[in-house]
Amino acid sequence: MVIVEHLIKRFGSFNALSDVNLTVARGEKIVLCGPSGSGKSTLIRCINHIEKHDYGRIVVDGVELTDRIRDINSVRCEVGMVFQSFNLFPHLSVVENCMLAPLKVRGLPQSEALDRAMALLRKVRIHDQAKKYPAQLSGGQQQRVAIARALCMQPKIMLFDEPTSALDPEMVKEVLETMVELANDGMTMVCVTHEMGFAREVADRVVFMDCGSIVEEGDPSTFFRAPNTERARVFLNQIV
Ligand code: ATP
Ligand code: MG
Repeated sequence: MVIVEHLIKRFGSFNALSDVNLTVARGEKIVLCGPSGSGKSTLIRCINHIEKHDYGRIVVDGVELTDRIRDINSVRCEVGMVFQSFNLFPHLSVVENCMLAPLKVRGLPQSEALDRAMALLRKVRIHDQAKKYPAQLSGGQQQRVAIARALCMQPKIMLFDEPTSALDPEMVKEVLETMVELANDGMTMVCVTHEMGFAREVADRVVFMDCGSIVEEGDPSTFFRAPNTERARVFLNQIV
């Protein structure tokens, strides 16, 4: 589903990613973790082409990410992204947030976009808030809307960048539950998160990054119990 080969991303002379290699199979769930500044956000932003990589290859569902705008747009349609700061459009209602891209980008008829939006809002259990505006919702509710909005484009893969780290503790659970359900539905997912309970429950693989490189990867039970590298051990001691 995703192939990343020899990826290099520089900001000026600083290598934010140096020679990153990662493949994500269809249906696979990957949890990406590592210290602050290790390049996790940069990596998933490159997969979505919000950041342009400098060297190496990224192939998403058979399409290589190049500068060709057509390729970028076709990939963006297939890749759903959920950010730490929900990024909903404040001037649109919940249901309008969900309908916008399907209407504008996919060219869906209004009634179909509405049906789809309502179905996905129901799925994340927030359909009763459909007419409200983002500012009228709690953080957890806004994040579930953000997930529903991404799903309305029927993406083939979902990328999450610390979706729960801006939430009050009591709202973390409802968002994680939504993500677990999505995982159980078979969605391909790459999640940057330090929620290790979530990682244990759904991740097929934990990928640990440090200083712009993938240092270690493994199945969650092995990684959490007995990481191979000192850097991962230090990191895990800090977060638990
Ligand atoms: P965190 O856990 O704090 O979110 P991260 O692993 O997501 O960290 P990134 O945001 O990917 O880290 O950043 C990797 C490195 O690249 C950091 O050193 C950061 O300062 C640098 N960086 C990221 N974006 C930019 C930018 N637009 N311009 C310059 N440097 C950047
Ligand atoms: Mg980040």
